[in-house]
Amino acid sequence: MPTLLRSAQSGSREIDTEEVARGVHIRRGVHEIATAHNGDAIANIGFIVGGESVAVMDPGGSLSDGEALRRRIRHVTKRPIRYVLMSHVHPDHIFGAGAFLQDDPVFVGHAELPSAIAQRAEYYRERLEEVLGAGRAGPIVQPTMLVNERAHIDLGERAIELRAHGVAHTDNDLSALDVETGTLFPSDLLFVQRVPSLDGSLKGWLRELKALGSLDLQRAVPGHGPASVNFAAAARKMQTYLESLLHETRQAIADGVEIDAAPDSVARSERDNWTLFDDYHGHNVTQAFKELEWE
Ligand SMILES: [Zn+2]
Repeated sequence: MPTLLRSAQSGSREIDTEEVARGVHIRRGVHEIATAHNGDAIANIGFIVGGESVAVMDPGGSLSDGEALRRRIRHVTKRPIRYVLMSHVHPDHIFGAGAFLQDDPVFVGHAELPSAIAQRAEYYRERLEEVLGAGRAGPIVQPTMLVNERAHIDLGERAIELRAHGVAHTDNDLSALDVETGTLFPSDLLFVQRVPSLDGSLKGWLRELKALGSLDLQRAVPGHGPASVNFAAAARKMQTYLESLLHETRQAIADGVEIDAAPDSVARSERDNWTLFDDYHGHNVTQAFKELEWE
């Protein structure tokens, strides 16, 4: 009785992926905050198929998001899932990790990811379950392979270069480069369309963005936005936003503006350039203010 089987799986959803380069499959996230309806499937996630095995490039925003990605992988290839990259601590990127425990993969993260998970994941899990319902966020999974500066993994004649970044979007940002196709996975070091959210260092983020710009790239898969973009063009837009935030926050501090009032004046000219601006921009200004007020 297929109909009953389908309803027994209610809450789970099937996802589609786009092959943006040979063997690189991406599911695009929606530009929304987490809701019961979207199941926190709001980040771009995906996988790379190598000659021998598969690497998951962020496991998704909830257990059901991770399970849907896993079903999609099993539809595309039967090769074993050997690596699960966890790009940073934010729940929309890593709460799907529990769906892959059955594959016994190497969970890869920045050297600072374990402490960020220890400090925050339980809080994130509780908030996510308020939205999705009890038991639906997923188990907290810690990385089993830590990257200090650089590392690489091999999927079978397919090398993935890993780079642990200085404090930028967060203090635990890991990017990956699929060397064969020149595809960069900057995760949330690159936002497209959706307004960036600052949870690390504004000055550090500008620095890391510039460093990524020196790589020889064919395309990038941003943490949020289209499944594939031209890195240089997308990074320029991000840089414009971050530099407005930097310069106008500095000006507000110099003018004696209070921290609570700064969001009303800083970088307002960027408002029409980004979705969810009103949801995140004020927090970004507050973060920038705290970083810059003592410089
Ligand atoms: Zn993030």
